[in-house]
Amino acid sequence: GTQQKVEANILLLGAENVGKSALTVRFLTRRFIGEYGDIESIYNHNEKIDGRDISFNIWDSLYPQNCETTESITEKQLQWANGLILVYSICDRSSFDVVQQQVHHIRQAKKTSGVSPVIIVGNKRDLLHRRTVSSEEGRLLALSADCGFFEISAAETYHGVLLVFHELFDLIREARALK
Ligand code: GDP
Repeated sequence: GTQQKVEANILLLGAENVGKSALTVRFLTRRFIGEYGDIESIYNHNEKIDGRDISFNIWDSLYPQNCETTESITEKQLQWANGLILVYSICDRSSFDVVQQQVHHIRQAKKTSGVSPVIIVGNKRDLLHRRTVSSEEGRLLALSADCGFFEISAAETYHGVLLVFHELFDLIREARALK
């Protein structure tokens, strides 16, 4: 029979240089290029999940220069998003701090404007020798804020990136079913 297309707006957040664009491009093209411009964009990507056509809109945001972390997410972004991916690099502790503050901010804001699912992603897993954030810390943060958690390498594999988007889509679907 005819099925309606399902839309999912996904917002990527996190500090500069953690791999937000790499994740986005991996999901869109299955490839890793290596260098990405500083372009803020919303990309559309259609994918079949469980036989359904899903239309993903992916907002690859830029972390604003010279701002307080709490000002790094706009109300407009939160209103737009059905689900969020917060990215840090496992070899950049300050990027983990940014995610910590952003997730806190989101959970505060969402008390008034509903709850969107969040997945926390520790990227650059291939750089194990430079790790400064343990898996345990990432997992604990996610647990304490009721978020999903993955450690991945956008550089090395497509699989982890795919899992992140599929898991987030599942959570979005669950959240919609509860409404
Ligand atoms: P953004 O500023 O968060 O969008 O980060 P980018 O996607 O532009 O990536 C920043 C830099 O990190 C680029 O040089 C990427 O090639 C590199 N990078 C992204 N993901 C990975 C990864 O999983 N492993 C490694 N080693 N480098 C990565």
